[in-house]
Amino acid sequence: MSTVLVINSGSSSIKYQLVDPGAGTAVAVGLIERIGESQSHIVHRTDGHTEERRLPIADHGEGLRRLLAMFDAVGPDLTAAGICAVGHRVVMGGRHYDGPVVVDQEVLDRITELCPLAPLHNPANLKGIQVGLALLPDVPHVAVFDTAFFRNLPAAAATYALDREVAEKYAVRRYGAHGTSHQYVSAKAAEVLGRDLADLRQIVLHLGNGASASAVAGGAAVDTSMGFTPLEGLVMGTRTGDIDPAVAFHLERNAGMSVDDIDTLFNKRSGLKGLTGENDLRLVHKMVADGDDAARLALEIYTRRLRKYIGGYAAVLGGLDALTFTAGVGENDATVRAGAVEGLEFLGIRIDPDRNTDRIKEPTVISPDGAPVAVLVVPTNEELAIAQQAASLVPAEAGAGRPAAG
Ligand code: ADP
Repeated sequence: MSTVLVINSGSSSIKYQLVDPGAGTAVAVGLIERIGESQSHIVHRTDGHTEERRLPIADHGEGLRRLLAMFDAVGPDLTAAGICAVGHRVVMGGRHYDGPVVVDQEVLDRITELCPLAPLHNPANLKGIQVGLALLPDVPHVAVFDTAFFRNLPAAAATYALDREVAEKYAVRRYGAHGTSHQYVSAKAAEVLGRDLADLRQIVLHLGNGASASAVAGGAAVDTSMGFTPLEGLVMGTRTGDIDPAVAFHLERNAGMSVDDIDTLFNKRSGLKGLTGENDLRLVHKMVADGDDAARLALEIYTRRLRKYIGGYAAVLGGLDALTFTAGVGENDATVRAGAVEGLEFLGIRIDPDRNTDRIKEPTVISPDGAPVAVLVVPTNEELAIAQQAASLVPAEAGAGRPAAG
């Protein structure tokens, strides 16, 4: 066996998985939450066993040390598990990276430079890599960027109609996000359909708490709904998605709100949460069932935005072969899927109501047999995608059995 330790380091959390990229399975899965607070929480699952610890964890360095101690105490032993790389999720790769890269000083410098473009994410990602390098120095560390799949968007899709000098000077362009998921899911959809990826015009809807759409032609991304930041595009759990930027000017001038207040409003207090008080669609559905008009309207706004993007991307692609739903909402919510394609029969998009069940755990076609557009649900697996990308950069001689330090 050869495995990759996948690390997703957030501002106050570290999610991790030890993945066997060949078998496509997770050998261990864990989460450290509330780093820096008085009581942190670690959950580590392996081989049907769950181990939990509550203790103060001051910072990411201590978090990673605790994480490795969990492997020592509960297993599996990283050396015995043949760890061959550590794969780090990095949110922003800017113009630099269109694929995974082995971390060296130049990569660290570039991720640091890009912090102003992703101030909430890149510093935490960077911390995870730096600590990881110190604790596991004998295996390659690979950075896998959320933006990489969208690095080569056509210029017409990536460029805002903004003063060119300002855009250039401040690196303002559409970078996209969730790219690892869009890439993985679009490739998987082709596999499920038994079609060549190169022949397919696809739309992928990654609908989680954050949500994004992509248009993929022949395996390459040609458009995506998230832009300079993940704020643009679809209605999300707590984010507005598309909104007239003049709303920000208005609030700053007339509501006494600072730029930071508006940032918080648009990113954390809007979307489904702003419209209904709840960011979880399960609760929004419950409110609708209880006759709540605001919740019904929220669901209409949510699905209307999806239909607009599906129609727009079908136009961008000049036709459509496959439409795929993924992530928490996309995989579990039959009502949202039905609403997203309602009235789109004219584009050849139809769902079979019997196939469109809640909670789809395996890649599944939910359109009727012979429909012009295949509609699918494909569970995303960003950790597996990161592990596979990281493993692809490991030289063959450094494969299974390479010892881990620390
Ligand atoms: P994240 O963006 O945090 O990675 P996920 O992809 O895990 O999000 O999706 C989380 C969201 O998925 C929840 O906020 C909830 O709205 C939605 N969700 C999860 N399970 C269901 C379900 N059974 N039915 C409807 N929505 C669900």
